[in-house]
Amino acid sequence: MTALPDGLPMPVPAPGLPPRVHIHEVGPRDGLQNEKATIPTGTKAEFVHRLADAGLTTVEATSFVHPDWVPQLADAEQLYPLLADLTGTALPVLVPNARGLDRALALGARAVAVFGSVTETFARRNLNRTVDESLAMFAAVVARARAEGVTVRGYLSMCFGDPWEGPVPLDQVVRVATRLRDLGCDQLSLGDTIGVATPGHVRALLTALTTAGVPTDTLAVHFHDTYGQALANTLAALEYGVTTVDASAGGLGGCPYAKSATGNLATEDLVWMLHGLGIDTGIDLGRLTATSVWMADQLGRPSPSRTVRALSHKE
Ligand code: MG
Repeated sequence: MTALPDGLPMPVPAPGLPPRVHIHEVGPRDGLQNEKATIPTGTKAEFVHRLADAGLTTVEATSFVHPDWVPQLADAEQLYPLLADLTGTALPVLVPNARGLDRALALGARAVAVFGSVTETFARRNLNRTVDESLAMFAAVVARARAEGVTVRGYLSMCFGDPWEGPVPLDQVVRVATRLRDLGCDQLSLGDTIGVATPGHVRALLTALTTAGVPTDTLAVHFHDTYGQALANTLAALEYGVTTVDASAGGLGGCPYAKSATGNLATEDLVWMLHGLGIDTGIDLGRLTATSVWMADQLGRPSPSRTVRALSHKE
């Protein structure tokens, strides 16, 4: 069903790229929270297990947001204990506030993420706060998580463009990034939430951040393929020295038939490019693709990932 063509992609290294890339899988959280269908808890648990079996070492499992906000992930309390056997896999969870952190810590979470916004409009709409108010709220969350020895990832959404505000100035991103870093975030994920970035913009933002003192090895990139730029942008980030890339198995989270398509970069498309460049990911692409074909069946629609479609095509 998902046989890889023999010897393909042919590994041909290119200069100036890292030998190994760490993929931060966001399908079960960012993917499923943006899908219309709500799938059963047991199916989600199987999904995370299959992703780990395919070689993903970081799988963002769920979100401890208020169940009314994201009904697709309202079962976080039931799901998380079903993953207890995955001791070799980091299973970060999103925590929107102190209450979410309490719930995650009570279940033994060892890695959490906070979800910030670079723009005022999105902060208002998504967090019901100004950017500064949201950072003030995160301060206590990050401090408590760190005191518990829990690692913290800080998401920055709308780093390249905002649907209400248009282009986002580089220094606006730098300001929020340095604040999140000062709060104690171990890693920052730069989100192109509406997928409008292009490679030169990626390089310019990374340059601005490192010039401001943010080390490249604390940065991850989170691209959306809305305009078909996600892989080009990823390559620009790798050339700059970034080695952590977010992706969503099967491209979950961007239903191609919905107007609201957000288009997460598909993990399979990313792995195809990385393996073609001779870059190690530790991932079994055949197994990962089979997982996304299976999940597409659960959701009742085909995967938008080109690689999943190509590898699962039946004559
Ligand atoms: Mg996303």
